[in-house]
Amino acid sequence: MHIIQELLFVIAFGLAVYLFSRKAAQIRRNILLGRDVDLNDQPALRWRNLLLLAFGQKKMFRKPLVAVLHFFVYAGFVIINLEILEIILDGILGTHRLFAPVLGLLYPILIGCFEVLAVLVIIGCAVFLIRRNIIKVERLAQHELDGWPRSDANYILITEIVLMLLFLTMNTADQAMHEAGPFWISGQIAPLFSGLPETSLATIERSCWWLHILGILAFLNYLPYSKHLHIILAFPNAYYADLRPKGKMENMPAVQKEVQLMLQPELAASEPASDVMPKFGAKDVADLTWKNLLDAYSCTECGRCTAACPANITGKKLSPRKIMMDTRDRAEEIGLQINKDGAFKEDGKSLLRDYISEEELRACTSCNACVQECPVSINPLHIILQLRRHLVMEESSAPQEWNMMFSNIENNMAPWKFSPDDRDKWATEMNS
Ligand code: SF4
Ligand code: SF4
Repeated sequence: MHIIQELLFVIAFGLAVYLFSRKAAQIRRNILLGRDVDLNDQPALRWRNLLLLAFGQKKMFRKPLVAVLHFFVYAGFVIINLEILEIILDGILGTHRLFAPVLGLLYPILIGCFEVLAVLVIIGCAVFLIRRNIIKVERLAQHELDGWPRSDANYILITEIVLMLLFLTMNTADQAMHEAGPFWISGQIAPLFSGLPETSLATIERSCWWLHILGILAFLNYLPYSKHLHIILAFPNAYYADLRPKGKMENMPAVQKEVQLMLQPELAASEPASDVMPKFGAKDVADLTWKNLLDAYSCTECGRCTAACPANITGKKLSPRKIMMDTRDRAEEIGLQINKDGAFKEDGKSLLRDYISEEELRACTSCNACVQECPVSINPLHIILQLRRHLVMEESSAPQEWNMMFSNIENNMAPWKFSPDDRDKWATEMNS
């Protein structure tokens, strides 16, 4: 019987790891669809960002109560999962609480700490469910979360509560059978189980053990399809965060050269001729950088960016959270097609217009509030600017007033319609 259980465990574990690795490789491939960009400068500052923003969740602490609850859920979930190591080894070797004799008196203390964290995770998740579904906090109740994103958030919170309850029940049954413990929390509940026959306790303990580990393996494979992927990607995303001062826009060497030639036409003779037309901005995800796509996969859909966005606050159509969700959805759509056909074939769709409209892009004031607010170092503005750049520079699609200003800059080197030769006139008139 033991050998069958061990075999079943090894099959379930191997399958879960294989499926997760396959999806993780697909996500990596989707992210690398983006243009290359070198973000390996200033490693010391990057490591600092990783420790402060991802591990320390520094930006979350602007709202202390939510931050503490989120920290419980995050730390609890990560730390409690250390006990999974014991469960996996028990499953493979057919042992029961393998670490107990090794750790001695330390074992009940360690499991006791995990149990306290489990209770904190349950409290944190319950409060988050209430905030989302009963209080309906504004940024978590917006329409862009209707359907799958809202269900996804609820599924995650409910699953975490169930996993923690299974962990506590498993420990309680074990103690009622005097097989382990005493543990701090489940030790208090164990007397409630004391009237149950040994076989029932053993069934409860084994059922919880199996459901707990199968639930964790299923959750592992749910992660890549969910916003919860941020528990992994927040770390590389914080490391590769943009280190330039906020508001500093990316220079475009091709445009810089054009302006230079306009101001110094004599330089044109020394310029090597080129047939390659430079491409400006981005129309689809492959025109964005891999960091933009990593951003999209790291988004927690928390809506802090949208809550701070002046365009959104004043009723415009723009939501930086939706920009990130749309980018991820489009990258996934292309990824699915690559899975099916082996390579991406033009599908007549693009991020611009099929997902993100011109109206959304034009509503952005480039204020950087979304970048400032994001707890996982995401930059929605960078995507907006690249899409807008494509609209204006590749399609000449801009409001009439902008086009007038652009042609004035091109012809008069100033936003006004006056000739550059007339620029000094105001001074001449003053002297007359
Ligand atoms: S930069 Fe644009 S999207 Fe971001 S907060 Fe400002 S207006 Fe909103
Ligand atoms: S971009 Fe950042 S702030 Fe906006 S929803 Fe995603 S994680 Fe939250």
